Amino acid sequence: MTDKLEMTDAEWRKKLSPEQYHVLREKGTERAFTGKYEKNKATGEYHCAACGQRLFDSSEKYDSGSGWPSFTAPAEDDAVEAHRDVSHGMVRTEVVCSKCEGHLGHVFPDGPGESGLRYCINSAALDFEPED
Ligand SMILES: [Zn+2]
Repeated sequence: MTDKLEMTDAEWRKKLSPEQYHVLREKGTERAFTGKYEKNKATGEYHCAACGQRLFDSSEKYDSGSGWPSFTAPAEDDAVEAHRDVSHGMVRTEVVCSKCEGHLGHVFPDGPGESGLRYCINSAALDFEPED
C-alpha cells in the first residue's frame, strides 16, 4: 500500500509549473508530439512530476507513434491506478499516480507487449532520471 500524498490546491499551484498543474491536477492533455519525453530513448526511470514516485522505466517505453510517451507497463503494479473516464463522450481508462492521484494519461488495450496495454502518458506528468 502506498501512503497517499495530499496537498491543497494552492500548494500544488506553487509546486508545479502551469503546464504540469494543468495536466496533473486538471486532467489536461498536452498536445501530441510536443512533450519533452515523447522521443526520449535514454535509459532511466520516469518519476511522477508531482510527488516523485517512480512510475515507469525506460525498458517499458516504446514508440507508439501516438505523439505521447508510451509504455507497456508501469514500473510496479501499484505505482499507478486506473479509473473509468467517461469525459469527452468517450469511455476510456484514466491512469493516475497511486501516491498523489495526479492525472498521468490513459491506458488503452492496443499495446504491443505481453500485457497488451499501451500506457499513453503526458510528458508534463513525468520527471525523467537518467541512469548513471
Ligand atoms: Zn504522484
